[in-house]
Amino acid sequence: MFKIIVFIKQVPDTSSKAGVNPDGTIDRARAKRMLNPFDRYALQKAIEIKRAYGAEVTCVTMGPPPAVEVLVEAFEHGADYGVLLTDKRIAASDTLATAYALHKVIHHLGEFDIILTGLQTTDGDTAQVGPQIAERLNIAQITYCEALSISGKKLSARRVVEGGHQELEVSMPVLITVANSATPLDYKRFADVAAVKEFLRQPQERERRIKTVSLDIIGADGTRTGLVGSPTVVGKTWKLGEIGGSCTLFQGESPEREVEELIGKLRADGKGVEELVNV
Ligand SMILES: Cc1cc2nc3c(=O)[nH]c(=O)nc-3n(C[C@H](O)[C@H](O)[C@H](O)COP(=O)(O)OP(=O)(O)OC[C@H]3O[C@@H](n4cnc5c(N)ncnc54)[C@H](O)[C@@H]3O)c2cc1C
Repeated sequence: MFKIIVFIKQVPDTSSKAGVNPDGTIDRARAKRMLNPFDRYALQKAIEIKRAYGAEVTCVTMGPPPAVEVLVEAFEHGADYGVLLTDKRIAASDTLATAYALHKVIHHLGEFDIILTGLQTTDGDTAQVGPQIAERLNIAQITYCEALSISGKKLSARRVVEGGHQELEVSMPVLITVANSATPLDYKRFADVAAVKEFLRQPQERERRIKTVSLDIIGADGTRTGLVGSPTVVGKTWKLGEIGGSCTLFQGESPEREVEELIGKLRADGKGVEELVNV
């Protein structure tokens, strides 16, 4: 049976205005929370592998205690185990510090065959964490993976590249970042909410399935996490509206008519449209 680890992150719900400070930064304690949408694809891919080849799926998240909510959501969609890394010393970690802490969780968990991550998050949005974890573990990585198949200890994958696709074969263990074009999301296929509610009610079973770990438990160095372990310095943040200017919408009877109107407006404004039109 394959051992799969899926990294999932709890992110602020971007559809909600709650938890946004006046300066535009996120007040994570007040913000509404949700599972990072990109991680749903990674989770679904893990469950598809489990169904097709046989696997044990462990989801790992790093965050404050409420992040356990995403582990419960993962159980509802077919994950077997969950690990929450929570520690005051990880608050304000940048991607370097996050990947350091998360690769220590992997060392703590032991043997694995496949690590799956989302492509990126809707808050940090860097897409750096997955590749950094692979580098730290010194294993192969396949980013933007759309499809995969397994034969023995070999994994074949199709990844998205600019203007096309690339096919690769690697030996496991491997880290894969799952493209959101990988598979249509179809959570209901795997859901068993009632069974999850039942095991969460049993303290022993809950403890067996969900492990909460600290930096000390996973043997991580607290000076390499949090603000102190994060070389990234945020210079300034601002709301998009403040840099946007005004917007004119052209709504003609056809796209051609709209383009004509746009060109007419640019000409009237003396915007040097001739070169653009010739292109
Ligand atoms: C100075 C500074 C302070 C910051 N403080 C915080 C903070 O306190 N809290 C915070 O949440 N963010 C904080 N961030 C944002 C921080 O960069 C990211 O949270 C974190 O490092 C992950 O980066 P990302 O969101 O860009 O993930 P990406 O690299 O875009 O994510 C790719 C994938 O990695 C995995 N992944 C990423 N983060 C986690 C995680 N925490 N747990 C499990 N899997 C994960 C997921 O599978 C995800 O799909 C801070 C950033 C800076 C620069």
